Amino acid sequence: MLATETGQSHGQNDGRITGIIGGSGLYQLLSSGVPAGVETPYGAPSDAIVRGEMGGRHVLFLPRHGVGHTIPPHMINYRANIWALHALGAQAVISVTAVGSLREDHAPGDLVCCDQYMDATHSRAGTFFDGPEVRHTSMVDPFCPIWRQVAVSEGRSAGMRVHDGGCVVTIQGPRYSTRAESRRFAACGADVIGMTQCPEVALARELGMCYLMLGLITDYDAGLETSPAVPPVSEKQVVAAMEENLGRVRQIVERVVARAPVETACSACGAA
Ligand SMILES: [Zn+2]
Repeated sequence: MLATETGQSHGQNDGRITGIIGGSGLYQLLSSGVPAGVETPYGAPSDAIVRGEMGGRHVLFLPRHGVGHTIPPHMINYRANIWALHALGAQAVISVTAVGSLREDHAPGDLVCCDQYMDATHSRAGTFFDGPEVRHTSMVDPFCPIWRQVAVSEGRSAGMRVHDGGCVVTIQGPRYSTRAESRRFAACGADVIGMTQCPEVALARELGMCYLMLGLITDYDAGLETSPAVPPVSEKQVVAAMEENLGRVRQIVERVVARAPVETACSACGAA
């Protein structure tokens, strides 16, 4: 089941190939690149995957919501996206995503590289193992610790406040949370909240790929009952925060890619 349809994964290029998935606001990344055709058993990815170079390394770029942001979080074909990147040879995924904060000390404009997640989504196809092959994949440490270390260091060098680790809860969307839901997630130990990390990270792990979350905090989710009070998240606020920080986020992605480990195997994530 896990053999790629094209049989061209791994070995087509020498060295590391990094897949970059752009979230809201990040629809184009490479100044020059060529579309990489790929078929998956799960249908089409969110958009054409562009193959190019960044920091002297091979990269593949895919906008998670499509270039025109036409695919909402709950309708994304996560399996096709991850399968396609893997089939094209990516050993690692850098996931750029907008998240809301569930705690006062995680402020809009900060970057967060989570090391844990909680899944509050439903009805999403979240595994490559629907049978007849059955496999139970360890998810105790779903995010790559090595890539996280690089990202934290590069983010701080670029002048951003970066939270090293933390827990992201993924909600179904596309609506935002109620105040009660937001309080519950925070009480359960989530630090930030988003709509796309699940099942994306789990699927990457099932294929033995490293996965790094570069989460840009755009808002305080249900707001803060401080004085003065901070209003709850709005779509406008998320877009504005992404636009304001996009330049720095791009710069960090480039620096992380350039500093990525040369080895294609990761002892933490099982990539081969
Ligand atoms: Zn790894």
